[in-house]
Amino acid sequence: MLAGHAASYWREPPERTAVPDSHRGLLSSDRPLADAYDCAMLDLDGVVYVGPHAVEGVPALLDRARGQGMTLAFVTNNASRTPQSVAAHLNELGVEAAASDVVTSAQAAARELSARLDPGAKVLVIGGKGLRVALEEQGLTCVNRADEHPAAVVQGFDRSVGWEQLAEATYAVHAGALWVAANLDLTVPTAGGIAPGNGTLVNAVAAAANVRPAVVAGKPYRPLFDETVRRIASERPLVVGDRLDTDIEGARNCDADSLLVMTGVTDPPALCRARPEQRPSYLAWTLDALFDEHHAPVRHGETFELGGWQVAVRDQRLVADEHGADRGDALRAAASAAWAWYDEDSTARDDATLDGCDADWLQP
Ligand SMILES: [Mg+2]
Repeated sequence: MLAGHAASYWREPPERTAVPDSHRGLLSSDRPLADAYDCAMLDLDGVVYVGPHAVEGVPALLDRARGQGMTLAFVTNNASRTPQSVAAHLNELGVEAAASDVVTSAQAAARELSARLDPGAKVLVIGGKGLRVALEEQGLTCVNRADEHPAAVVQGFDRSVGWEQLAEATYAVHAGALWVAANLDLTVPTAGGIAPGNGTLVNAVAAAANVRPAVVAGKPYRPLFDETVRRIASERPLVVGDRLDTDIEGARNCDADSLLVMTGVTDPPALCRARPEQRPSYLAWTLDALFDEHHAPVRHGETFELGGWQVAVRDQRLVADEHGADRGDALRAAASAAWAWYDEDSTARDDATLDGCDADWLQP
């Protein structure tokens, strides 16, 4: 498995089976989302930028959302960079952002540690500057070696992390230190391709120490969202992301509504296969959807209708009997029909393949 999360590393795994009916399908909003929600908790990679460039049109869309009174929070699993560094990067891309608008998994991890440790307690840091600064802001003391007897170990991705640091982490965890992981992302995208992420390095320590992290701060777990809500004081946040297994599942874990945009890693076949706990509240090709009303497809038997589209699953194939004008509505009708098939059809198991999810009418 190249992507995903080892839920077993969490002390209390999210419930994976009992999904209320109200969570199974898309929601409707008769007001544009930027009016209906007071804060957008935005994922970065795949939502605001892809690789070195801003997603087309997104800087202007974010300005517009702010102008309409929406608070923007840039919420990242990346624990390596400081909020100042993330904000500077966003500014270079034309996105207005202050350091205080950025919430990192390093900050969420530091908050979890400060809630459990005495002021000034020693924490072994396996990671980069983002973690060190976040710990110091919480009044904790960063150390580099297990023989300094840290009360806790915090582990986040940094390109500098090597065997010696993983060994120090293993010694400290073995000695009983509280272990907090910034996230369990197994992979990170790099210029050369897919490379090991923090979750893979956490697994190395876990295998050696035969212990698992007590707390995971980043998406899809709650601490990062809790830290964001604490800072923004949002009453009605909308999580905006491109990944089903971090952004959308994380929103579900917090009972927050979510918008999936298709500008990042999720393609229509992956969307159609989404398990109930990874299904978004709203669905759109691009972030322009913040300024739209949203309507859930209407079901008639096996057919899901929206905006002139009529989509159904027959003989294990997704088919559009009628075509409408808006490709966003096609996506919503298709996802709804596919999810109903996976949930209800006795021949549809989790690993069953639904044909037709890559059809031309299911492209932007
Ligand atoms: Mg992303």
